[in-house]
Amino acid sequence: MKVFVKNGHLIDPKNNIDSLCNILVADGKVTAVGADLRADDAEVIDAAGLLVCPGLIDIHVHLRDPGLEYKEDIISGTRAAAAAGVTSVACMPNTRPVIDSVPVVEYIINKARQYGSANVYPVAAISQAMKGDVLSEMGELKAAGCVAFSDDGVPVVSGELMRRAFEYADTFGAPIIAHAEDLSLVGEGCMNEGEVATELGLKGIPWVAEDAATAREIMLAEFTNSRLHVAHVSTKGSVELVRQAKARGVRVTCEATPHHFTLTDESVRGYNTNAKMNPPLRTQADVDAVRCGLADGTIDAIATDHAPHHVDEKNVEFAIALNGIVGLETMLPLTMNLVRDGIISRHQAIALMTCQPAAIIGIDRGSLEVGAVADLTIIDPDLEWTLDAGQLTSKSKNTPFDGWTMRGAAIRTLLAGRTVYQR
Ligand SMILES: [Zn+2]
Repeated sequence: MKVFVKNGHLIDPKNNIDSLCNILVADGKVTAVGADLRADDAEVIDAAGLLVCPGLIDIHVHLRDPGLEYKEDIISGTRAAAAAGVTSVACMPNTRPVIDSVPVVEYIINKARQYGSANVYPVAAISQAMKGDVLSEMGELKAAGCVAFSDDGVPVVSGELMRRAFEYADTFGAPIIAHAEDLSLVGEGCMNEGEVATELGLKGIPWVAEDAATAREIMLAEFTNSRLHVAHVSTKGSVELVRQAKARGVRVTCEATPHHFTLTDESVRGYNTNAKMNPPLRTQADVDAVRCGLADGTIDAIATDHAPHHVDEKNVEFAIALNGIVGLETMLPLTMNLVRDGIISRHQAIALMTCQPAAIIGIDRGSLEVGAVADLTIIDPDLEWTLDAGQLTSKSKNTPFDGWTMRGAAIRTLLAGRTVYQR
């Protein structure tokens, strides 16, 4: 089975390609890349006027499977990924049961292989049942196929346990993904602390709840000389802490979500529960700092924190609504907005969604050299469309971007040479 993608503008940051290029795929792998290719016996995909990129990678996704399939499952979640141009996702362990045992890792990998429309890389829990008391069996979990460790959704309160987690994870070559939050500073807060919270009469979460925790994780990574990846940085201070840590050689990377570089806490007005997430939407100064971090390389990846919830879990009083929004299907257009705004280049945008996240979780994806698996996304960066939450591929519809005019979309998504989505 051969596929010939011709006339497209290939952006493959890892191989430093940003030009008109044809790609030949056979048996799921890239067999040739170049301007003067021919292939008479292949299925031809004409990508004239479009961008061709390695399949996008989102290293922060909640697939809700096993146990919470009424919100999302591996089939629906990976279909949403394919529709977003995403061919690889790392899924977080706060499922039921938690991803803290080999059978759960195997269940996810097998189900994704059999029925999925994207590659799925499980992130296993740092602590058993994510309770923060006892370390998970990291060696076994890594051997079973997990790519990183995280108690995402809750912080590991014990500095001692986190120290051991760093030490063990590093011996298995996996990063710790930190959910940086000091719960004692969060208290009963449910949105960013500031003017908007005061006006709405809602309890606030101060920026220091994130910054203080980010600082601890950086210090522990530095102390143990281990790899830290900070999830969803949302404050000016967190970005600066990571910047300084990188400058002195700490093995740290971090990610930002599209909502944190697009929206501020103003979106909460009207008690909009689809603007409730953790970390919360912050101020314009924080949004600007995150954008600056993306531009100067402090932030290594764009990741969505795709967090599907049932409408009944959002259609309640703001303070008790669950945190999070679906993010996969809005990642690409919101990232292309940064390019149009002159914050990052097109090349940077693709790197932030391909080779850079791939390097963080250590997977052989995110580039299209000869021999690479042909995960590939064809993008129209300027295609205009209106987001209708009801039409999302994801099972859940909790997005603050309903009704927004989006620019940029995946036109076709190939997973190992096979079309898994076509617009
Ligand atoms: Zn988190």
